[in-house]
Amino acid sequence: MTLERAGTKAFDCKRCGTCCYGEGGIFLDPEERDTIAAFLRITPRELQARYCEQRNGRLSVKTGRDNYCIFYHRERQCLIHEVKPRVCSLWPFYPALLKDPDAWLLAQDACPGINSRVSHEEFKRQSPK
Ligand code: SF4
Ligand code: SF4
Repeated sequence: MTLERAGTKAFDCKRCGTCCYGEGGIFLDPEERDTIAAFLRITPRELQARYCEQRNGRLSVKTGRDNYCIFYHRERQCLIHEVKPRVCSLWPFYPALLKDPDAWLLAQDACPGINSRVSHEEFKRQSPK
């Protein structure tokens, strides 16, 4: 039986949008910026002007008036899902959560997609990297 069928996936996104809410934190490197711009069929310069801002000297995705990420849509969720930033696609398999079981436990409060029924060891084992 596969892990998925056994219901023991360490992470299964519930598409609640919680992690797309709030200011800052979604940084783009030039490669990510160019990839997202190409996906949206606009130039990197347009992407920066319309959807990004500088934060602490780094390029960051803006939030909208509702304080969700500017690429978040209530029905369709992430509008750039196919090319979303690394920081988004890596979650929750961040180095801090892989290293520290307490950080992993805390993250479960914020993200219902992290399966609390699997062990931290199993979570680490299922990390894509
Ligand atoms: S908080 Fe977790 S479950 Fe909710 S959308 Fe983000 S990754 Fe998915
Ligand atoms: S880029 Fe997509 S996944 Fe990342 S915060 Fe924005 S809407 Fe959410």
